[in-house]
Amino acid sequence: ATTTTNTTNHVFKSKLPDIPIPNHLPLHTYCFQKLSEFSDRPCLIVGSTGKSYSFSDTYLISQKTGAGLSNLGIKKGDVIMILLQNCAEFVFAFMGASMIGAVTTTANPFYTAAEIFKQFKASNAKLIITHSQFVDKLREAPADGAAPDQNNYPKLGEHFKVVTVDDPPENCLHFSVISEANETELPEVVIDPEDPVALPFSSGTTGLPKGVILTHKSSITSVAQQVDGENPNLYLKEDDVVLCVLPLFHIYSLNSVMLCSLRAGAAVLVMHKFEIGTLLELIQRYRVSVAAVVPPLVIALAKNPMVAQFDLSSIRVVLSGAAPLGKELEEALKSRVPRAVLGQGYGMTEAGPVLSMCLAFAKEPLPSKSGSCGTVVRNAELKVIDSETGCSLGYNQPGEICIRGSQIMKGYLNDAEATATTVDKEGWLHTGDVGYVDDDEEVFIVDRVKELIKFKGFQVPPAELESLLVSHPSIADAAVVPQKDEAAGEVPVAFVVRSNGLQLTEEAVKEFIAKQVVFYKRLHKVYFVHAIPKSPSGKILRKDLRAKLATPTPLA
Ligand code: AMP
Repeated sequence: ATTTTNTTNHVFKSKLPDIPIPNHLPLHTYCFQKLSEFSDRPCLIVGSTGKSYSFSDTYLISQKTGAGLSNLGIKKGDVIMILLQNCAEFVFAFMGASMIGAVTTTANPFYTAAEIFKQFKASNAKLIITHSQFVDKLREAPADGAAPDQNNYPKLGEHFKVVTVDDPPENCLHFSVISEANETELPEVVIDPEDPVALPFSSGTTGLPKGVILTHKSSITSVAQQVDGENPNLYLKEDDVVLCVLPLFHIYSLNSVMLCSLRAGAAVLVMHKFEIGTLLELIQRYRVSVAAVVPPLVIALAKNPMVAQFDLSSIRVVLSGAAPLGKELEEALKSRVPRAVLGQGYGMTEAGPVLSMCLAFAKEPLPSKSGSCGTVVRNAELKVIDSETGCSLGYNQPGEICIRGSQIMKGYLNDAEATATTVDKEGWLHTGDVGYVDDDEEVFIVDRVKELIKFKGFQVPPAELESLLVSHPSIADAAVVPQKDEAAGEVPVAFVVRSNGLQLTEEAVKEFIAKQVVFYKRLHKVYFVHAIPKSPSGKILRKDLRAKLATPTPLA
């Protein structure tokens, strides 16, 4: 499937043949295309209540929700923000928005007020759908100068509406106001395949979080690459029960769990939050057959003693993604779920998100090696380039992974420059990940050249923490880099240059950041230094700092 070695034009393709992809459709039409086949089957099962929604229920409530959003003034092209932990309403709101041509930006409900509003403003959202427990934050002014222009700060009720999925606090609406609207009032909209449908935020290879424009076409392409065709890459069957414990606000769960299951007709077990005892109990009770996980969850499943008390024999597939999974961990999990096929997917929000996936998940499975991220998805091209020369490399030669295909993002919202540095003129998206393709076409990720830090699969953009650090009056300069960590994969640590004497303590710096960011962006260590190593053009030499951390005395 590839060109020969020792040329400079290697392009890697899937071992599965390309398939026709109906990516001219709107995403909701595509996802519910086989509705008549599945109509009475369970589509969403809510773990906390046991409430189940069939495919036709899910479709109808999504239509009603679309009509309800429209009644609240949401029009084609408008952005709504879903600020929720996993719940059925998440799905109704996302699909309902798609049906009226609106766009959903998803955010972590545990973000601080400042983090939420940065995304809210950048995406120009008109409405927030959330849970009452998060509403107080939406009334807060941002802390500590994070948004200096406080007069310009949007006010709940005045500048934007809030809908809550539980009892609404003052000035908020209950979700039933939208989900019980009359579906016949769903406006007729013409959706172009290139229209945006989802707007997750990601820092990509450099800088601050940016809105990633995923269109109807790109989203359909990605789902189809996974679950369509005679021999799907990820074989979800109608009788599968797919675990949805990873947050739907991250594209991995939204796409590879929710949208793929809707398309394939599998039931989704929606878990509000991760708690190991509840997770095991639900897997046993609902006979979960496909578990989409991240490495920290693999650690829990592989090592927690409670696992032995539950029957996990229903699990046939364990898909791990969002961060590297070590071979030892893979082996440890295998001993806990011996009947399951365990493999990895490799994704990146901007890539739509899936670049490659284990072929042992296919209907007609192909062998996959431990540590591999599978082979590139169908209807896409992958190349590995030498970062210095830009030339593509052959088998077994590590370099930066690039991907091309209709599934990748349209671009970053209002950021042509960042788009141009990420997607080149020939349409190749440069991932900032270092990897290679072995003789069996399997992709292995070995390093990351981009700034991004991943804590348990969550994004920690160093530039965001650096800009907060230098806003401190006693900090002259700062750099944030990842440090390896057994439980989290990586944790952020900072190198800080003090501006006035030695008064500023490590604890004070940590606390200054902790107040302003979600828990996983907190600094784990602060090293005080005299200067931050920089290139002649002023770029932080992160590699040098990472190398310092690898020594027993990083300050020496
Ligand atoms: P995100 O956009 O949050 O999904 O983060 C994407 C990044 O996560 C990728 O560019 C990789 O650096 C990392 N990543 C995702 N999946 C894997 C994997 N299976 N193995 C190693 N790194 C991964």
